[in-house]
Amino acid sequence: MTGDSRRAELQRNLEHLRGRIGAAAADSGRAAGEITLIAVTKTFPASDVRLLADLGLRDFGENRDQEARPKAAAAPECHWHFLGRLQRNKARSVSSYAGTVHSVDRPELIAALDRGAVANDRTIEVFLQLSLDSATHRGGASPTEILDLAAQVQSAERLQLVGLMAVPPLDVDPDQAYSECAAIRSELIQRYPQAGAFSAGMSADLESAIRHGATHVRVGTALLGGRPRLLR
Ligand SMILES: *Cc1c(COP(=O)(O)O)cnc(C)c1O
Repeated sequence: MTGDSRRAELQRNLEHLRGRIGAAAADSGRAAGEITLIAVTKTFPASDVRLLADLGLRDFGENRDQEARPKAAAAPECHWHFLGRLQRNKARSVSSYAGTVHSVDRPELIAALDRGAVANDRTIEVFLQLSLDSATHRGGASPTEILDLAAQVQSAERLQLVGLMAVPPLDVDPDQAYSECAAIRSELIQRYPQAGAFSAGMSADLESAIRHGATHVRVGTALLGGRPRLLR
């Protein structure tokens, strides 16, 4: 596909997506401007990042350090979000380009990210990832762990707690999954009023997430097209 036709395709997808986000926000009496669209570009080339950046997108997400680093370098004017399971030994690298990490779920990761933020002389926004099932292999902390992690982020030198992130299990109705986040979200906000952001919603379920208060939607497929199955 030529650059021009890919640009036209991405522009169409982006317009359609903004329409979905706007309609979902309106249905909930919310302003579309409260919702940040993060383009999840994993498996797609840096040239797509450039096209989307030139179309006005500013927030990009990736889930693997090795892949994210060169793409972030190709669009340094953009804000990079790290979304995936993060190993402690990658925290330093991730903190060199990511302004926000959505997948923080354990104490040693908080300490490592804070060291990375200090070393890179930047502040990193942190979403704590809430697990919505007991299968923790997908990452995420339980509601009781979330409050301890929040206290730790709060006392870190260069981390800023912004809210919660959740990924609904594949076999669960997203409305059900997202409604389970409400109690822990309000407890968190009561203790940390600045931690009201909610990173929730992907291509298939962003309407549900917006109904349940999502402030950051993370969209790959609906914007860029399908990924090879093995690389989701
Ligand atoms: C891949 C990914 C997304 C985007 O999913 P789509 O269904 O392609 O929109 C969102 N969040 C996380 C954590 C991801 O890994």
